[in-house]
Amino acid sequence: MEQQVPPADGRRRIARTDVLLADPRLVEAAGRLGRGVVKAAVVAAQGRARAGEIAPETVADAAVESLPPTASGLRPVINATGVLLHTNLGRAPLSDAARDAVAVASGATDVELDLDTGRRARRGRSVLAALLERVPQAEAAHVVNNGAAALLLAATTLAAGREIVISRGEMVEIGDGFRIPELLAATGARLREVGTTNRTSADDYAAAIGDETGFILKVHPSNFLVTGFTKGTDVAELTGLGVPVVADIGSGLLAPEPLLPDEPDAASMLKGGAHLVTSSGDKLLGGPQCGIVLGREDLVRRLARHPLARALRVGKLTLAALEATVRGPRTPTDETLHADVDVLRERAERLAARLRDGGVDARFVESEAAVGGGGAPGVVLPSAAVSLPEPFAAPLRRGTPAVMGRVDDGRCLLDLRSVRPDQDDAVAGAVLGVGA
Ligand SMILES: *Cc1c(COP(=O)(O)O)cnc(C)c1O
Repeated sequence: MEQQVPPADGRRRIARTDVLLADPRLVEAAGRLGRGVVKAAVVAAQGRARAGEIAPETVADAAVESLPPTASGLRPVINATGVLLHTNLGRAPLSDAARDAVAVASGATDVELDLDTGRRARRGRSVLAALLERVPQAEAAHVVNNGAAALLLAATTLAAGREIVISRGEMVEIGDGFRIPELLAATGARLREVGTTNRTSADDYAAAIGDETGFILKVHPSNFLVTGFTKGTDVAELTGLGVPVVADIGSGLLAPEPLLPDEPDAASMLKGGAHLVTSSGDKLLGGPQCGIVLGREDLVRRLARHPLARALRVGKLTLAALEATVRGPRTPTDETLHADVDVLRERAERLAARLRDGGVDARFVESEAAVGGGGAPGVVLPSAAVSLPEPFAAPLRRGTPAVMGRVDDGRCLLDLRSVRPDQDDAVAGAVLGVGA
């Protein structure tokens, strides 16, 4: 590697670390972010000056500019990918109501205390009540760390050392190597596969039921479609077989969503006879990462009392965010899902015009957005985007805030369906900053 050797006097003009750390702006930042974070920014800026990238007298300014917004390494990203629930971007963005609830719960809070009596109270009681209000078909609810944990707890409690009956067409991989059959097998349950990849009938299930059966599992194949000569089996056809039926619906819809008619929801599944429904909190429900179990009281109670439940339980921040999501106003996920495409077009046209005024080769284009996060495969959400030259993609991604677009056919597309309207100004600023 070639190394640039700056003139020795230039190097000498770079202020020492302790001198830089005494800059009032950096003293203030150290109080907010911690001395280690600020020192790292200073050292990085000195390195840039040494490499000749910036002038020695601007090191303090560069350090201030490069400070992260928080003491966490996680940085804010504007999701312009057009994928509403982008797993790499943390899936559902929280609503303001959920953020407020998290802020309150971050202090001491009555998560396990009844303030009236001064006695210990059931953890998460009010979020469980909120879930049951939204899904009256459920007798009881339980919350764990994520969708996989909900399935793990159900399988361990109801089928360890016994059999889980599952269709060969539902032995799915959700993403990043997460395979549901492998998770189930890890609990010590045996999988009793029935039917074929494309067709499984109620008789196939019935023939497999026996003394060893823990439960029947129905998994929503949430990230792919099987078309052609196919046959699935409704939950309703399986509830009379004398064993519990557990439905893993994945997305976390509590009630039917007219825009996504093929996406299962908890209320309909329970109405159809499922005894337990498991799902994620940070997909279409639009809440924090968690797993939700809804269903029959005796079964939910068994899950909640299993020793493993303690290892899978969620923290107060999650409980607060989930309750505010369930009780609160429309979630950002719901809003982006339902955004009117004409409004998206107007926003994209306005943004493109503004960028062109700033000298950027920006064009309005029609676009297609997706739900993502392993949900609603094959559903295309009409959308609108601003198309930029591809070289914009990397600097936008590395900027503050980071803007994550979608590279398509040699262009960098900023799809506005996944961008909140109040973020349009920040997107414009970021692009103009790169273009300048
Ligand atoms: C997403 C999903 C899971 C896993 O949920 P996580 O919250 O990611 O752990 C399990 N089953 C189905 C059907 C899913 O779609």
